[in-house]
Amino acid sequence: MIETADVLVVGLGPAGASAAAEAARRGRKVIAIDRKREAGRPVQCAEFVPAMIGLEVLEVASTARQRIESMATFVEGDAPDFKGDFPGHMLDRAAFDAALVARAAEAGADVRFSCAVRRVHKSGTVELADGRRFCGATLIGADGPRSSVGRAIGSVNEKLVETRQVTVRLRAPHASTDIFLGSGIPGGYGWLFPKGEVANLGAGVEPAHKSRLPRIVTELHARLAREGRVGEAILSLTGGLIPVGGMLRALGALGDTRVLLAGDAAGLANPVTGAGISAAVQSGRLAGEAAATDAHAEYQGDLEDLFGASLDRALRRRRELLASVPSKAALRRGWIAYPEYWQ
Ligand SMILES: Cc1cc2nc3c(=O)[nH]c(=O)nc-3n(C[C@H](O)[C@H](O)[C@H](O)COP(=O)(O)OP(=O)(O)OC[C@H]3O[C@@H](n4cnc5c(N)ncnc54)[C@H](O)[C@@H]3O)c2cc1C
Repeated sequence: MIETADVLVVGLGPAGASAAAEAARRGRKVIAIDRKREAGRPVQCAEFVPAMIGLEVLEVASTARQRIESMATFVEGDAPDFKGDFPGHMLDRAAFDAALVARAAEAGADVRFSCAVRRVHKSGTVELADGRRFCGATLIGADGPRSSVGRAIGSVNEKLVETRQVTVRLRAPHASTDIFLGSGIPGGYGWLFPKGEVANLGAGVEPAHKSRLPRIVTELHARLAREGRVGEAILSLTGGLIPVGGMLRALGALGDTRVLLAGDAAGLANPVTGAGISAAVQSGRLAGEAAATDAHAEYQGDLEDLFGASLDRALRRRRELLASVPSKAALRRGWIAYPEYWQ
């Protein structure tokens, strides 16, 4: 037996939950599935969002745990460069994802966890690991960087960054996101993002350097512990993939099923910063709206209008950084805190 819906959403992260809410709010029958046992866990995120997103996404206010005022960028061994006007929030990401899922359920979407997709058939039918089958007039792939829906329509994130992050105690209150740039962190950067009494401390690198990640994070942790800024104990460990190849073709078809991709599945994370929460929510809403209003054809153009310019710029900067071992000047030109980045 195949369960059917107007809109079938795979993935209940920010993109999928937002898509499900939007389509259900517009009166469509929505089934949304995720392989996780519960929304948002385990957390694979450094949990920072810019303040702007809070104006459009109500769930930010209830799940923000700390205000961020500024950004400090450490380039190699130099003293930090401060950027004062950098407002944002540190979220409780598990609570944020759960709130978005609750919103989708309130709107009428049938949300289900412990549903791992094993295969997306050429007909558009989605098959779970336990054999259950689902089908939607529209299938929305919001299943992250290694999207199986995306693979089924030939849209695959080829370029990815590997990350590793630990949570540690913060020894003193801190209100800036600290960024560590260096040629020893190829294709990525290190971060210390404060969240009340703790902080997320991590790094991302090109996949070819994945084996160096544990040492990079350990050395950054040791340095910050030596400086008296964080505790030595590791409270938790996470990591994950970030797509950094830019926007994919987010529109396709499988048999009679029309397919839309959103969030990381559509390659919308920023190739320089790795930030993708905001784009996931925005694209998810657009995908849900396109599915509900039969405006599939306009969806790709809407994504281009919203994200095209910033993704193109970030891709250019990323390519420049990877072209050779970057100097300090090149590292600064490749980071959003510096005017050179925007030139
Ligand atoms: C270490 C790390 C730190 C980050 N820090 C930040 C940050 O500070 N700020 C920021 O903006 N972004 C950050 N990002 C990026 C951000 O987390 C993503 O861009 C965002 O989660 C994308 O949302 P999404 O809904 O597209 O995908 P996801 O949040 O990945 O959700 C995809 C969902 O699909 C489900 N799924 C996948 N495959 C299947 C399957 N086969 N069957 C069923 N379900 C499936 C998953 O379980 C998951 O729930 C970070 C990423 C990492 C890895």
